[in-house]
Amino acid sequence: MYYSLFEIFSIGIGPSSSHTVGPMKAAKRFIDNLIAQNKLSKLEHLHTNLYGSLALTGIGHGTLNAIVYGFMGISAEDINPQKDYIKEVNESGEINIANMHTIAFSMERDITLEKKIYLPEHSNGMKFTAYDEKNNILLEETYFSVGGGTIARQDEIGQRIDRKPYDVPYKFNNCAELMEICRQNKMSIAELVLQNEKAIWGGKIKISKQILKLVSIMQENIDIGISKDGILPGGLKVKRHAKEMYERLLNRFESNDTDSLTAIDWINIWAFAVAEENACGGRMVTAPTMGSAGLIPAVIRYMERYGKFRNDADRQNASITFMATASAICSLYRSNASISGAEVGCQGEIGVACSMAAGGLAAALGGNNQQIENAAEIAMEHNLGLTCDPICGLVQVPCIERNAMGAIKAVNAARLALQRTGAHIVSLDSIIKTMYETGLSLNSDYKETSLAGIAKNAINC
Ligand code: SF4
Repeated sequence: MYYSLFEIFSIGIGPSSSHTVGPMKAAKRFIDNLIAQNKLSKLEHLHTNLYGSLALTGIGHGTLNAIVYGFMGISAEDINPQKDYIKEVNESGEINIANMHTIAFSMERDITLEKKIYLPEHSNGMKFTAYDEKNNILLEETYFSVGGGTIARQDEIGQRIDRKPYDVPYKFNNCAELMEICRQNKMSIAELVLQNEKAIWGGKIKISKQILKLVSIMQENIDIGISKDGILPGGLKVKRHAKEMYERLLNRFESNDTDSLTAIDWINIWAFAVAEENACGGRMVTAPTMGSAGLIPAVIRYMERYGKFRNDADRQNASITFMATASAICSLYRSNASISGAEVGCQGEIGVACSMAAGGLAAALGGNNQQIENAAEIAMEHNLGLTCDPICGLVQVPCIERNAMGAIKAVNAARLALQRTGAHIVSLDSIIKTMYETGLSLNSDYKETSLAGIAKNAINC
């Protein structure tokens, strides 16, 4: 299955693609279906049941707010950051559905957290029920947020995708097929992706511009993140560190510090800046999820700063190559494993982001397809078994540090691969299979429930 670069890297609001972007899309789609069936005018009451991981960590992840946005018909790209939509709903006790029909609404009364119930299809389940004034059901649908902001209705869950397959010239289901197509057509992975994107969206220039827009939002988030201090929301009282770390590093330069590992400090700062902005519900690019959204921007900034580019045009081409290659790698994980922390643990989020970044960086720095595969494989190999255990259900601890650690690991994986010929024993396909099997065999407490791991032992929420 081919996933477009623009569905892998999509704009949304933090802090979690599966817990905010997905539920927001599902709630909006449910309302759209109600409208399509001419039932909106009869709507008197709306009830939502959240199951499993969405119920256990939904409050900390902002799921309830996201559902309210979805009911109101707001999409992530249109959100006005200056407006407090939730406060308005809470104060009025009403919600304006799709900006067309107002009903009484209370988040506390109308959203039930079914913390002990896991739906069999997926651990991120949600059911929406619309009633008329006589309490008759107008429409009832169950959705799943399957990772990276993608949703599936109950009847679509096996498909893992909420759209028809794209008609692209180069179709591949696994890395072996991808490599063979590239070999036969004498093209790089990035060239293949750009051809496919052209077939879906048209013009090469338009696609390049849109990719660079995504990169610029990612880079903007670094600059926003290093300009803010204070405490992250959610009650855990986690301090924002990026700004302080940045200022400390600048002071070191002023005092002629000659530390040879400064690049590591920079990468840490950049990853922290974006991950902290994500924790505050900022506008993000999924990469491939929100929880892991700091890793790839940090590696791209590293590439831009430390790659030996002659000029801006070369630098931009390198960013496009990075993004296109990373998206192909993510396509492999989405087709054959998962990018959902609730399904396979943090190896599906930080692990996949690390693998994408390693492959993307190797490509942007001139690596061949074998070296790219090798880099992506090394990066995941050393994230296997990584559990998802956010303290108090907040995408803060250990998530923010994990972005920094993953970014450093991605750079190292790319450097290791680039120092070798590309010949390797463990294929990317076999590591993806291993990651998925490992994820499925993890106890469900370690998959975005905050019932085990660091979430259980570090602090009592
Ligand atoms: S631990 Fe990893 S998978 Fe879990 S919420 Fe944090 S970043 Fe996402």
